[in-house]
Amino acid sequence: MSRRILVVEDDHEFAGLLALWLERAGMSPQIASTGSQAMRMVYDDRPDLVTLDVGLPHLDGWQLCARIREFSSVPILMVSARGGETDRIHGLQLGADDYITKPFSFREFVARVEAALRRAAMPPARGGHEIVRHRDLLVDIGAHRVLVGQHEVHLTPTEFRVLVTLARQQGSLVSHGQLLHDAWGPDYRDELPLLRTAMRGLRGKLAEASDGRDYIGTEYGLGYRLASAEMGAAG
Ligand code: CA
Repeated sequence: MSRRILVVEDDHEFAGLLALWLERAGMSPQIASTGSQAMRMVYDDRPDLVTLDVGLPHLDGWQLCARIREFSSVPILMVSARGGETDRIHGLQLGADDYITKPFSFREFVARVEAALRRAAMPPARGGHEIVRHRDLLVDIGAHRVLVGQHEVHLTPTEFRVLVTLARQQGSLVSHGQLLHDAWGPDYRDELPLLRTAMRGLRGKLAEASDGRDYIGTEYGLGYRLASAEMGAAG
């Protein structure tokens, strides 16, 4: 069955072009031109992926991204005319999976959509019901749940994949390149800002659920690891 992509874009001509390229790549695109229409379609039609223009009238792309994340973990690709680091980070903090800046080639757009679909389709569990524990952190990979003690932690899909990659290494160092490869895909090894943003979000949420403990150790210039209790206490 071909993958259903919801294109949220108020510029009809541009939306049509995006849809055309997705169709040529074998996908089934639908178009929403306002935020409220997009909300309804995400809710009713459960698309496989949403591409989201930042510049929408009324409910803008940022707000829409945050609202979709309240009820859905559908992969979201933000599309923006602005490319500042702040914008990019903002979108990723709100739970977007990836970010593409206009002007871009349609080939690049399709490649990003395909990469996000591949990530979403990655079988998270290695057969059976895989659960990883580290200190009082419990990562239930099959059920997509994270607990710190008794507290449930709500992560974005990207933050979750990063945590799974770290958790599977049980405290060993995982390089930046490996994390980007495992959590985003083989073409993302050099996209360090994506990793930094996800890591900031992940760290913040784990700290919030645990009265400020730090579960992630940083090896500057190299990578990250799940921190032991002593390392965590030190900073
Ligand atoms: Ca627009």
